[in-house]
This record gives sequence, C-alpha cells and structure tokens, in this order.
Amino acid sequence: MMNSREIRKQFLKFFEDKSHEIVSSAPMVIKDDPTLMFTNAGMNQFKEYFLGNKVPKNQRATDTQKCLRVSGKHNDLEEVGKDTYHHTMFEMLGNWSFGDYFKKDAIKWAWELLTEVYKIDKDILYITVFEGADAEGLPMDQDAYDFWKEIVPESRIILGNKKDNFWEMGDQGPCGPSSEIHVDIRSAEEKAKIPGADLVNQDHPQVVEIWNLVFMEFNRKADGSLEKLPAQHVDTGMGFERLCMVLQGKKSNYDTDVFTPIIREIETITNSKYGVKEEIDIAIRVIADHVRAVSFAIADGQLPSNTGAGYVIRRILRRAIRYGFTFLDQKEAFIYKLVDTLIKQMHEFFPELKKEKNIIINVIREEENSFLRTLAQGLVLLDNIIGANTDKVISGSKAFELYDTYGFPIDLTALILDEKGFQLDEKGFQEELEKQKNRSRAATKIETGDWEVLIDDPIEEFVGYDTLETQVRITRYRKVESKKDGELYQLVFNITPFYAEGGGQVGDKGYLESTNGDVIYIIDTKKENNLIIHFSKNLPKNLNDPFRAVVDEKQRNRTAANHTATHLLHQALRSVLGTHVEQKGSMVHSGYLRFDFSHFAKVTSEELTQVEDFVNARIREQLPLQENRHMPYQEAIKEGAVALFGEKYGDLVRAVKFGESMELCGGTHVANTGDIWHFIITNESAVAAGVRRIEAITFDAAKEYFANQTEAFNKVKAVLKNNAVDPIKAITALQEENTAMKKQIEQLLKDKAKGLKGELKAELEEVNGVRFLAKKVDLDQGSIKDLAFELGSEFKNLYLLFASENDGKVILTCYVSKEIVKEKELNAGQIVRELGKLIQGGGGGQPFFATAGGKNPVGIPEALLKAKDYIG
Ligand code: ATP
Ligand code: MG
Repeated sequence: MMNSREIRKQFLKFFEDKSHEIVSSAPMVIKDDPTLMFTNAGMNQFKEYFLGNKVPKNQRATDTQKCLRVSGKHNDLEEVGKDTYHHTMFEMLGNWSFGDYFKKDAIKWAWELLTEVYKIDKDILYITVFEGADAEGLPMDQDAYDFWKEIVPESRIILGNKKDNFWEMGDQGPCGPSSEIHVDIRSAEEKAKIPGADLVNQDHPQVVEIWNLVFMEFNRKADGSLEKLPAQHVDTGMGFERLCMVLQGKKSNYDTDVFTPIIREIETITNSKYGVKEEIDIAIRVIADHVRAVSFAIADGQLPSNTGAGYVIRRILRRAIRYGFTFLDQKEAFIYKLVDTLIKQMHEFFPELKKEKNIIINVIREEENSFLRTLAQGLVLLDNIIGANTDKVISGSKAFELYDTYGFPIDLTALILDEKGFQLDEKGFQEELEKQKNRSRAATKIETGDWEVLIDDPIEEFVGYDTLETQVRITRYRKVESKKDGELYQLVFNITPFYAEGGGQVGDKGYLESTNGDVIYIIDTKKENNLIIHFSKNLPKNLNDPFRAVVDEKQRNRTAANHTATHLLHQALRSVLGTHVEQKGSMVHSGYLRFDFSHFAKVTSEELTQVEDFVNARIREQLPLQENRHMPYQEAIKEGAVALFGEKYGDLVRAVKFGESMELCGGTHVANTGDIWHFIITNESAVAAGVRRIEAITFDAAKEYFANQTEAFNKVKAVLKNNAVDPIKAITALQEENTAMKKQIEQLLKDKAKGLKGELKAELEEVNGVRFLAKKVDLDQGSIKDLAFELGSEFKNLYLLFASENDGKVILTCYVSKEIVKEKELNAGQIVRELGKLIQGGGGGQPFFATAGGKNPVGIPEALLKAKDYIG
C-alpha cells in the first residue's frame, strides 16, 4: 500500500514528466489581498495569470497547495469532524495550464494518472460534465463530454448543473465549466442496492468528488454578465487526503496515514477510543483536523487574535478545545501535545512546521489555557442565569451575550441547559446572531464596479524606488463603494512611482496633475492581483490626459526611515537576544514602526538599551543602501539574506542590504542609514505566548519626541522656581519631606486611637457577667479592628459593637471574646447579620469577629441600642 508521502510525490512527478514546473505551495495565510484571508484553492496563487495581469514564466505548473476553507465563499468548518471527508486545512493537488493545453489533455492525463499510475479501478469512477444554463446563455460543455466519451462508457458520465459544474473564483473574475471525477467506495452489497450514478453529488460519505478539472473560459463582470477570456486555462484541484483514502482502501480520510498517528496520540493522551461511540469519534476528528489547521497557520505567521484572520484561527482552535472539553472530558490543555506528532508526520514536505515548533506549541498551550478559563467563567455565569430564571426558558439575547462577550459556544450552552432541564430560545439566539452579522456585513460590504479599460495593457511598471515623480497615463479605472469609505475610485497607471501597501509598509499618498492644472489626490495605494491600485475620491476631468504623478515626499521619507530602522532593529534583536528571534509581524507607518518577533521572555530594560544602542550605532556609521533588485532567491539566501516564513517569494528577489543587515524586501528605504537620524524604542509588550512587540520611532518623530521631553523638563524647572538649578536634588528633597510627614501623621493617628482606647475602657459596662460597649466611633476600619482586638486581649468576657460612617456608608463591627461565644450564646456573625438589616446592609464573619456594611446611617442608633438585647 502506498503511503501518503509517495502518493504526493507521484502526483508531482507525473506532471513534471509532462513538462510541468513543480512550484511550491503558496502560504496558507494571505497577507496582501483584500478579497481573501486564506488560500482556499490551488488557483489562488495563479490568479494574476488568469486575469492577464502577469505573464507566467512557464505555461504549465503543478503543486500541492495548503488550503483552508473556514471563511467566505468556501466554508466547511461546521461539517468538519461530523463527516469523514471535509477538512478545514487540506492539501489540494493541482496541474495548471496558463493559455497552453486545454480540455482534451487535462481529461486524458487525469484519467491516465488515476487509472494507470495509481491503478484505481475504473469501475468505481464517475464523471460529471456541465449541462449548460439557459438563463445565462451558457451551452452544455459538449467538448468535455466528447473527450470523456472516448475513454469512459457514457453511463458513467453525469450531467451537472451550474451549482456543481461551473466554477467561479468569486462574484467577479475568471470562471468556467468544470468536469469532476467522483469515486464510489461503497461495498458491493450497497452498490447492488443503489447505483453509484444516483449518489454522485448527493453528499454521500462514500460517493465523493476527488478531482475537479476547471476550464477557465470566461470573465464574470460586475453586472453579472460573462465575456470570453483572451486565453483559455486549465485549473485542477484534487483533494490529497481523499485520494489517500481511495488508494489506501479506506472509507474515511481519517483512517489514512495522514491522520492515524495523530488520532492514536489523541487516544493515548485523552484515554479514549476511536471508533466506538459516534460523539467521541466526532470530537477526535475535530481535534485531529483542527490541530493541523492551527499549526500550519501559526507556522505561516498567523497567530490567533481578536480580529480578522487571527480571529478565524482562534475560533478553529476553540472549537477543538470545546469538543475536547465536552466529549473527551479534557479540562486541561492537551492539544499542544499533539504538535510533535504532527511535525514528525509532515515536516519533510513542510519544513516550516519544524522550524516554528516552539512557537506553535507555546501559542496553542497558552490559547488553550485562556479559553479553558473562559469556559469555567462561562459555566458560572450560566449557573447564575439559570438560578435567576423562573420560566425554564433562557432567552436568545442572554445566550448571545454569553457567546459574544465571553466566547461561550452556543452548542455548549444548549447542552448544559438541556442537562439541567432548561430550554434555550434558539430562534431568539439565531436572530441576535443574524443581527450582528448584518451589522458587520453592512460595515464591510464593498460594491466593486467593472474596470473601464482606457489602454488595454494591464502590465504596470513600478518606478518608485528611484523616483517620486513621473509622467503617467491611466490605463483603467473603476468605482468602488463601501459603507466605511464611501464612494472611491481605483486607478491603474502604465507606470507608477506610488508604493502599494505590502510587507507591512503603508501605501503611498500623493497627487496627479494634468497639464492644464487639474489635480486629484491619491489617498492610498494597494496591490490586488499584481496590479498597483491608486485610490482617489474623484476622477480627473479628462481621463486620457497625460498626468504628472507625485508621491508625498514627506510621508515617504518618514516611512522609509522607519522601514530601514525595522531592518536594523531585526538585526539588533538577533544580535542582542539570539538568532532564535524571527519576525512575526511588522507595521511600518510614517509616524512609527511596530515589530513583532519570537522571544520567550520579556525584553529587559538593559537589553532594550543595548538594542537601541546597536541601531543608533548603525545609524551613525552612515551605511549606504546596497540593493540587488533581481537576485536569484537561492543565491540571496546563501549570502545570508533573511527571508520570512509565510511570505511568497518569486525566483528573483530584491535583496536590501545595510552593512551586515540583509533582508529580502520589497519596501522603500533610505539611501543612507544616517537619514534615520535617531532611533527610540517607545514600548515593549507581549502579543501572544512567545511573541513580543517593540514599538519605536525615528527621524522627525524622534526629533519631536526630544523637543517634547525638553519642553516638559522646562516646565518642571518652572514649577520648582528657585530650586531649578538642580531639579533632581529639589524633587528628592520634596519626596523625603513627604515621607517624613506621612510618618508623622501615622503616629498622630496611633496616639489618637490609644487615647480613644483609654476612653472606651472607661465606658465598658458590666451586664450579666459580660463587659459590653456599643458605640459609634470616628475611625477607619483597620483602626477599629485593631482597637477591638487590643481591648480583647485585656478582657476575656468582652462584647463590642462599633458603628462607623463614611460617605453614607455604614459599617458595623462586632467583637465577642472567644471564651464567651458558647457560654453566653453570643455569635458576632449572627449579630451583625441581624443588626445589619437596620442599616440596610448585610455581612458576616466568624463567631468572634464579624462586620456588616450598609447604606442607611439613620439605622445606627437603633442598631447600637438593640446590641444590648443579646445579653439583657
Ligand atoms: P465538496 O463538494 O466535496 O465540498 P468542492 O466542490 O467544494 O467539494 P472543489 O472546490 O472543487 O471542491 O475543490 C477541489 C477538490 O478539493 C475536491 O474535489 C476535493 O477533493 C477537495 N476538497 C474540497 N473541499 C475539501 C475539504 N473541505 N476538505 C478536503 N478536501 C476538499
Ligand atoms: Mg465544498
């Protein structure tokens, strides 16, 4: 039986032999695309080829792509674990033709690979072909049908509708008919009962799609209409785990060697058994799947967090924790313990896992611990809600509050309520959830118009490393509208000096000016599908004019200073703290920079000073920028360039060097480190387990910082007036004086209490063998307690009740000598509870000492009076 490693290798080799270039998986976490958070199909990394925005080096490619389907158009999260063939993270094997071969070869090769190389029995395979859609004027895919007919009996070819057999990237963009290959792995008896053809696309767990061959022919426009693409492409995707299931003769993806080692480990750690009870099986599958997704995401640089992609990752992990908590009785962190096994399993093909092992384990453990605390808190809250409820139905809004504010999962709420004989208003909950979704949808919805093409050449040249100003022409533009930013225009030029947001650096701002003085402002620049897109609030009067495009120089210079400083900071951290330091995130603004990196302890203030000194030394050395814009990737790495995990690099990279610092980077930099002027760390903090954050400023911001410091210092001197010659000495003297005065006050208060003690002693009266006093005193609570215990050490038959009042708050303090608690049946706790009612309060304590707080000073005299009843 072939193991999964061999299966993967054979796929790639098969297409390599057919002149395909093996490319590596793009990162699973997408950083620079506003339309997509995670890679959800093999084609994502090739989108720009289909759109014609970039020309591929090789027209044929093959790969295995890490995919994550947990958000947006493809979201399988809720199925995962419940069924046996959907995962959150999975590998998609693919072969690609960019304007090269089309349907015929794609079909022929897919069949050859499955039946001749992998030797899958032809009788378990079914084919689907697009039947056409009249409403859109789309004909049936006759070509595909005819090619298939030559190799499989027609009884195995099934026509499918638009939902199943027409692939679209999103609401807009390249699309086309698809032809899928399905497998029927049921037993012979079952096959005899229902023919496999009837179960294709019917969500049967053993009649599943394994391979989708998409034939890109059209472009979907904003108004929904289709136009023919200039070139035709092939985009295929085969689920690796499903293929393993078929080739290894299993009925479930989880029974293949991709998952069994992790499942065995879960069984051992949680002392449970897979394959006995359905709800336990589901939990084990959920955990086995999710630990993969989360580990790969962290390795790609996406840590769990409270927003965006980070929040999606956090939710996946929480779903796993929750299943472990409820069904495997895991009340302590355990998922992090599976990471070792996962790495052993996958590291050969995905070395990033091994490299990032420490951080993966630490982050998962920390997330588990914190969510388990939340769960414990949520249980208490839920108990309170149940306790305060009378009609046995918990409202949707209460459940939603638990869910939304405390992250308490709704199915857990439902389960617990059910166990306690309560009902949950699920409809009410769904309504609340829907309301919230609509709120966020409305806030983020973007309406994108079609590109209006002025010059039909999508290739755009970036010249912004060398110049901040150039003559440009607008090649295309479109209107976009969102609630957040209102109506905006996106412009693409033939050539541009504007840097598009990327690599942590903000996009450039600036303006366009036509020859007759028409000016429009560029408010931001971003990249999308390899196009540099300039945002503006309005369009120029004549779009076909030539324009002078000018980048805001001040912002660019400040940003460049911060970007170069970020490289020096990275180098400094590796030098001061060690080479385990790796970049985990970076934000380069014009005003400041932020750098996240792996390190397992707080950076001490001495270390921070060393880091600052290191960077400032490099600044003073005035190191010139040395860049190589087209360096072969391997060569750059060999020369010691720092590359980032989770970043997509081409074959040729830009290497940026300042002295000993060398990084692969597309950002804009100063010409000389001297231009940074000065580097100041403003903050150091934790971001996640094992990840620290440094914030810093440079250049103008550093100048401003020093100016402000000086001004503040001058103000201090002004306040100190005559003593300003030596402010430190003056302030120290003030502090010493202050301390001395505090001591004096303390002593005075003590003396006062001592005097009071004498007075009170004289006031004690003797009632039935008890020394008693009930009195209002003007002391703080600590002194009252001291006083009571001091008197108690002198008398063994004491019963005291003190009342004190402060800002409308009343406190009753009761003391009873231990010796007489039983004998005289005096219980301080009980006394304050009863008398506390008179001051509208409550409290309690020990039989010999107790206090009660209340808010009704009017009740004090009565409470003091009644105190005597207990002995009278
Ligand atoms: P399904 O209908 O089974 O969800 P799909 O139509 O969503 O599949 P495609 O988008 O065509 O699938 O993806 C190509 C291939 O990737 C599929 O044929 C399948 O083998 C695999 N695949 C898709 N989604 C998943 C998933 N969530 N987990 C594992 N493999 C998947
Ligand atoms: Mg699907």
